[in-house]
Amino acid sequence: MLRESVRRFATDVVGPKVREMDENEMMDPAVIQGLFEQGLMGIETSADHGGAESSFTSAIIAIEELAKVDPSVSVLCDVHNTLVNTVVRKYGSKEQKDKWLPLLSETQLGSFCLSESASGSDAFALQTRAVPSADGSHYTLNGSKMWITNSWEAEFFLVFASVDLAKGYKGITCFIVPKELGVQVAKKEEKLGIRASSTCTLSFDDVKVPAENVLGGVGKGYKIAIEILNEGRIGIAAQMLGLAQGAFDKVIPYTFERKQFGQPIGTFQGMQHQMAKAAIDIEAARLLTYNAARRKEEGLDFTKEAAMAKYYASQVAMSVSGSAIEWAGGVGFTRETGIEKYWRDSKIGAIYEGTSNIQLQTIAKFIQKQYS
Ligand SMILES: Cc1cc2nc3c(=O)[nH]c(=O)nc-3n(C[C@H](O)[C@H](O)[C@H](O)COP(=O)(O)OP(=O)(O)OC[C@H]3O[C@@H](n4cnc5c(N)ncnc54)[C@H](O)[C@@H]3O)c2cc1C
Repeated sequence: MLRESVRRFATDVVGPKVREMDENEMMDPAVIQGLFEQGLMGIETSADHGGAESSFTSAIIAIEELAKVDPSVSVLCDVHNTLVNTVVRKYGSKEQKDKWLPLLSETQLGSFCLSESASGSDAFALQTRAVPSADGSHYTLNGSKMWITNSWEAEFFLVFASVDLAKGYKGITCFIVPKELGVQVAKKEEKLGIRASSTCTLSFDDVKVPAENVLGGVGKGYKIAIEILNEGRIGIAAQMLGLAQGAFDKVIPYTFERKQFGQPIGTFQGMQHQMAKAAIDIEAARLLTYNAARRKEEGLDFTKEAAMAKYYASQVAMSVSGSAIEWAGGVGFTRETGIEKYWRDSKIGAIYEGTSNIQLQTIAKFIQKQYS
């Protein structure tokens, strides 16, 4: 039922706006509003906090369905649910949950602020500082964050900052920072793909954050980020899976309409074998993604499986969307059909929430542990 309702929303509400949002590099506020109204912004959040009280797999399915139509809308929903909401749900105090989860389910978009200009893959080398006041009532944040998804539209920011740089990763702490405390957007990036999804540099200039906004305890930010990004990777795998399926669904009907040499191009064996291989790749990406989600829900280890799913689904997204352009010929190369957009959007899958090399490194660590 959820898949059907997200599909309808994606097709009817998002679909007509995809090209315009991509060209304008701007998310239509009506789409964000629609996501809230559809109950897609608090998928796992309990009903008494305004959420849909559904499962992690439901979130994964929603992300996949949205990506079939627009990977930008998909990542907005993904970051909000699998990173922002999950951190508040898992690590927030009762007061923090009561205060923020209803807002995050119903009105306020959230951002997850970890990366900085000098700390990407090496995320815990971050330099943003949070200095406690003498009376312990608040922290003063200074520094900047780069590449922050949703940050143009967001009102709620989870910010990772160090209370003591000398302590290394043990000083990293997660703060709830509402925009009105002084979060500044310093720059909005112009990107190759997922152009409707905002990605900005944020600056924190003497931003005073009440001590009650520390989430999960002082010095616990490292653990929070590691654990959450493991889950988040399954979300990106779902985004890339949906993207691959969306590109496939868009181009295949065309191959049975378009005729060359007196027959539909989709009936040439050379085309059919390529299409069959792409269908296998998509199915394999789907099984890896759902398996990682299943393991997470069952309380089993899933770090390796999540890394495999994200790595593989992003490869498949790139290859299938690239093939889709070729199968459509010249029209696939134009912006009119929307096929090329899937390929542009696919490149990010190998970069954010851990690059492909970082996923391989994670998988390799498990192999070494098992065999050495
Ligand atoms: C559109 C977009 C949205 C994003 N959204 C967010 C967000 O919402 N919140 C957030 O906190 N961050 C976000 N990010 C940041 C993203 O997570 C980082 O870009 C990513 O982790 C890579 O870091 P980097 O760009 O600094 O690349 P680098 O870390 O500099 O990597 C460059 C290259 O070096 C390779 N490399 C680095 N270290 C190793 C190693 N040890 N072994 C082998 N190869 C290595 C990488 O694989 C990559 O190929 C976003 C980025 C983009 C582009």
